[in-house]
Parts: sequence; C-alpha cells; structure tokens
Amino acid sequence: MARATSSDTEHVCFDRVLPRDLFRPQALAPPRGGRVRAIAPIGKTWMNGSVLHVRFLGGTPAQRALVREQAGWWTEVANLQFVFDDSPQAEIRIAFDPADGAWSYVGTDCRGIPSAEPTMNLGFTDGGTTAHEFGHAIGLAHEHQNPAGGIVWNEPVVIAALAGSPNFWDEATVRHNVLDKYRFDQVKGTQFDPESIMLYFFPGSWVKSGIGTKSNDVLSALEKTFIASKDAYPRIPVQAVELTINAAPTSASIGKPGEEDLFTFTVKTSGRHVIETGGQTDVVMKLFGPNSQTKLLAEDDDAGVGLNARIAVSLIPGQYFAQVRHYNKARGTGSYSIKVSR
Ligand SMILES: [Zn+2]
Repeated sequence: MARATSSDTEHVCFDRVLPRDLFRPQALAPPRGGRVRAIAPIGKTWMNGSVLHVRFLGGTPAQRALVREQAGWWTEVANLQFVFDDSPQAEIRIAFDPADGAWSYVGTDCRGIPSAEPTMNLGFTDGGTTAHEFGHAIGLAHEHQNPAGGIVWNEPVVIAALAGSPNFWDEATVRHNVLDKYRFDQVKGTQFDPESIMLYFFPGSWVKSGIGTKSNDVLSALEKTFIASKDAYPRIPVQAVELTINAAPTSASIGKPGEEDLFTFTVKTSGRHVIETGGQTDVVMKLFGPNSQTKLLAEDDDAGVGLNARIAVSLIPGQYFAQVRHYNKARGTGSYSIKVSR
C-alpha cells in the first residue's frame, strides 16, 4: 500500500502471488451491473467461519498490539477469527523486517508457504497498512487492480516513481503489482471503491486523468458490506451438509457461478476412505481435517469418472470437511452427487 510519509516517499505494498496464479492482463470490458464491491481473487478466501492462528516472528509489544487491533477491524465484520497464540501450525506468520517492505501472501496461498517462513511482512505500519495486509491475508486483492476501476496509468511516471527508494522495483514488478489489472473472471465482486483500504494511495501525476487517490486508513463501508456478504465471510455460515459413510450418494448442485458447497462427515474407525462426486458437472473438491476447516488434506479435479473429483486417502478418527466448487469458477453451474465410502 502506498503511503505518503514525512519524507514524502511512497510505501507500496505488493501481493505475493504464487507463480501458478500469476494473472495475465487482458483487454478490459465494461462491468455488468449489480455486483458487490471490493475484489477477491476467486478461490483464495478461507473457508467461512475459519479460526486462523497467527504467529509473530519478532516484533515489539507495540507492533504486536497494533497488529491485533487492525486485524480485529476485519473480524468485527467477517465470520473469521484470529487467534494470536504463536502456534507452530499458524496459518499466518508475521515478520517485521524493516528492509523488506510491507506485503502478504493472499488468502489460502499462505498454506503453501513453509511453516518457518513469514506469510506477511510489516516493514512499516503507517496508518492502516496492517489492516491492508490482513485484507490480503483473508483473500482480498488490490482495489486499484479492480478491472472496473477504469484507471489509466501514466505508466512511465509510475515505473520511474517505484524504481526509487523505498521500493526499488523493476518494471516487471511494477506491472505486476500496480499496472496489470485482474481479469473479470478472476475476481468476485466489482465496482471500483475509492474509499477502499485495499487501494494504493497515489498522486495525480501517476494517472492520465491527473486525479490521484487519498490515503485510506480505515475499512470502507462498502468493503465491510462485501466482507460480510455471502461472497466472502457471512455470519450466517454456509450450512455443511452431513454425509454418512457408505450411504447412497447425496444430490447437490452449484446453483450460481463461484458457489462453494460444504459437506462434513465423521470418521469413527481409521482406514482408507474414498470421497467422490458423480454426474456430468465438472467439479473440484478439497478435503480438510481432521477437526479443522483450514488444514487442507487433499485436493482433486478430475481423478474420478469423467469430469468428477475423487479423493482416496487414509483418515484417522475425527470430523472432516469437503468443499466442492465448479471447475469453471466464473461461469459453471450444474448438479452432481457426492458420497464417502470406506
Ligand atoms: Zn497490498
């Protein structure tokens, strides 16, 4: 996130996006109406209702207190919990290296980072920077990369400004972090929100319109609405459908694009279990547990019959969660069935 500091330098946050998820820009089309605001790359939000553990890798008592306060801005509105218990299994690990800027991996990408390494660095904490980084940690992208934003950058000026202190970015990094926009089918929500804390502060000289943005240091009303909506972390949780092991398949459907269905089952006896979908709909399945909605055990796309997902895995006793979504996150809908057998 960009910040005007006393020395008038720009602090700009960058998302750490894993290589397989590097977004490609494409020609922009105008947005269709009726979508909620704020943007989240599809598939990177945590399961609704998740309890996320946080481990500090350094930091003064004052820095840690600031983190707890600003992380709490999100949990006031989102159906998520942060537990600051320095757990060895913590999903979010925060370093405070002043030489490494401010950044965070996005949402569930944090799970792919080795557990000794930070998933977030708070090299500076001006204004709402910490809340901004926690926005990434719960799966939000940069608002200025919202394809509905209509920002026309003055590219040479932006590239030159960020080549200097304190960012020292090369052109490719500037393009990835600032200039490239997400494609419409890669994000949930839209309508550019100029009040978003996920927006960079930038001066008027950076854009062709000459109109810059102001520094947003609190969550906007619109992003609060978005984060509490059914597209993010609603308080009324997605009801997990109970599956009985070795019962007949349960019918389900993806009623609208981007919908994620949730199933749960309880293993009483250890052993190899098979969770599989049936039907003509191309679905992707993730399995979490035991007794955790954030510990990913397995993920599958097409191992089952036809386009179906199938996970075969040895399970110990406990409660498990299977999350199912359409392969085509932007457009896919359709019915399918799911069963668990042992
Ligand atoms: Zn950022």
